[in-house]
Amino acid sequence: MKYIIAIDQGTTSTRSILFDEYCNVVAVDQMEISLSFPKNGWVEQNPEEIWQTVYLTIKDIINKSNINVKDIKGIGITNQRETTILWDKNTGEAVYPAIVWQSRQSQGYCEDIINKGYESLIQDKTGLIINPYFSASKIKFIFDKNKDIFEKAQKGEILFGTVDSYLVWKLTSGKVHVTDYSNASRTLLYNINTLEWDDELLELFQVDRSMLPQVKSSSEIYGYASRLKELGDTLMPIAGIAGDQQSALIGQGCFEVGTSKVTYGTGLFMLYNLGDNAVISKNGLVTTVAYTIGGKTAYAFEGSVFNAGSTIQWLRDNLGFFKSSKDSEALAKSVEDNGGVYLVPAFTGLGAPVWNSDARGIICGLTRGATKAHITRAGLEAMAFATKDLTLVMEEESGEKMRELRCDGGASANDFLMDFQANVLNIPVNRPTEKESTALGAVYLCGLGLGLFKLEEISKYRETEKLFTPNGDQKYNKYYIEWQTAIKRSC
Ligand code: ADP
Repeated sequence: MKYIIAIDQGTTSTRSILFDEYCNVVAVDQMEISLSFPKNGWVEQNPEEIWQTVYLTIKDIINKSNINVKDIKGIGITNQRETTILWDKNTGEAVYPAIVWQSRQSQGYCEDIINKGYESLIQDKTGLIINPYFSASKIKFIFDKNKDIFEKAQKGEILFGTVDSYLVWKLTSGKVHVTDYSNASRTLLYNINTLEWDDELLELFQVDRSMLPQVKSSSEIYGYASRLKELGDTLMPIAGIAGDQQSALIGQGCFEVGTSKVTYGTGLFMLYNLGDNAVISKNGLVTTVAYTIGGKTAYAFEGSVFNAGSTIQWLRDNLGFFKSSKDSEALAKSVEDNGGVYLVPAFTGLGAPVWNSDARGIICGLTRGATKAHITRAGLEAMAFATKDLTLVMEEESGEKMRELRCDGGASANDFLMDFQANVLNIPVNRPTEKESTALGAVYLCGLGLGLFKLEEISKYRETEKLFTPNGDQKYNKYYIEWQTAIKRSC
């Protein structure tokens, strides 16, 4: 039997998962990562801790699986995206904490370049909007705060990387400085049309080319994990890299134009495969590189909703409606409908396609008969309506109708939600047996890079656990119209 390790380096934890050659999970280990919040809106991590959790979780799965380490044929990496790390090229030490994607500390700089009129130029080149979320303004922030780091960078002594890049550097003992197209496309420095770092953007953000990783396809041998040699006297190739959302798209087997997936986690992320057509959105979606495999680049529309499963946590923890998120399903099913109640979870403003940072959460349509079951149901329905908001924009801008939606993430376990989603969209919702879509994407990429799998074979590994089909009832259109009224009220 051959094996592949998937490293799934997320914002709150690192997981290493050992898969066999049939893509079954053999062993998993997970470690939490600390987040620090030095000031309001700032979110930082210790890069060394990120690396240590990767090393220790790999060590653990090797120990507990009891296999011959020489049978591990390679490593695939999927990672939290946009998080920015700068390190010293000579010592390998990080020179500043990792600035996490959520961090808002470079907001002022972003506002400044918006006011200078760069918005459409940047969107045309990168497919993104100007926002502290993406890496470039985070690098600029570090430079503005630390003249010495800036000067060293000018001399070619500092390297920049997103988490994938930093991990490859660590795993290869400082020999390889690369990233893949999907991660590069989240930096705000990368031109997704020419597939090159963009000189004009590098100048705008004062980033010296010498800092940047070489951009490679999502599936090829980048280097060998010499740092892991002590775990089994073997040199494992690193052969797959993709950002977490893109990796989930791959893990769900969404390789054709018009295929899409939604991850229902704390937030909600929807990706829609655009094929080789990098359509630029006029309605608040971002365009991103989905992957590059075998010389072919596929693009995707991405829409994100900041609060999704977090609404269920809020109902559970702040309002005390139920003990476990899972209980929301039975509670929602205990009433016939939402009783006219709508919950817009704009706790931190509204993301795509509305983009209103001043919007705030509301519960509306309350009557004397409203109960916690109606409000819980409204909280779950909000995820389905938000997905419909994104779907309509994606269909309009791509000119393609969606035929099916593939789902994953914690809240996709909720049958009520999946059923409601299928009815609201009026297309089937397909839930896979293997829920680890993100890690699976990294395994597929690694297996392809090593020549263990062929692209056309991958879809056969995906099994449907349950297909939720719409019943065609017109009442869902009425619900959606009422949702849109609720959205307006929250703005
Ligand atoms: P993340 O990767 O963002 O941490 P997960 O994919 O692990 O998130 O999903 C966790 C989220 O899903 C939590 O916000 C939780 O409230 C929600 N969740 C988990 N199970 C259910 C369920 N059965 N019904 C509704 N929401 C759920």
